Amino acid sequence: MAARVEFSTYSNPIKLNVNRIIEKTAAEGPGMRLCIWLQGCSRHCPGCFARDTWSFEEREMHTPQEVINMAGEDVEGITILGGEPLEQMEGLLELVRLAKDKALSVILFTGYKYEEVKQTKPDLLKYIDVLIDGEYVQEKRSFERPLVGSANQNFIFLTDRYNMDSFPQNSIEVRIGKDGKTVFNGMGDFEVLREKMGKNNEI
Ligand code: SF4
Repeated sequence: MAARVEFSTYSNPIKLNVNRIIEKTAAEGPGMRLCIWLQGCSRHCPGCFARDTWSFEEREMHTPQEVINMAGEDVEGITILGGEPLEQMEGLLELVRLAKDKALSVILFTGYKYEEVKQTKPDLLKYIDVLIDGEYVQEKRSFERPLVGSANQNFIFLTDRYNMDSFPQNSIEVRIGKDGKTVFNGMGDFEVLREKMGKNNEI
């Protein structure tokens, strides 16, 4: 009897390696936003306060569509941080494309400079409303502007959806999980907060 050969039409979907997702936050840009921290960063800036995002080992794996499906009706946009989001370029591109399909605004953080992204990833910029560029520089630590912790970082407004006045003042949200662990997000002096709250916290 002839052997039966089956061809699968299923191809592996792109997945994003995710450090964490907050489905609804008011502390990561204008309006209510879904916020995603991508896992993995090879830049290793001295003083980085997101060191747990450096490893490229798999954490939570999600398809871009799964992430976008988490955005509820009252969410106006998505904020993407890292890690270094551009180190997951294929999944990132799909994520921002799907965000735009759903009319969500997109704020993207990267350690690269805008000029570098414009030269090497021009397709990506078509889907971004605000690019916040530049890596963290310890000597330029400053919390004077919304969302950023270092004075060299730049807000690049690529559409007219937002301007600097759209960004609320810095705030820090605190969530207490079922396991009793406290998780912070937003922007401010996390070191001071960490000391006050004790060590069993994640930022
Ligand atoms: S690029 Fe961002 S996540 Fe990566 S080391 Fe620098 S500050 Fe940390």
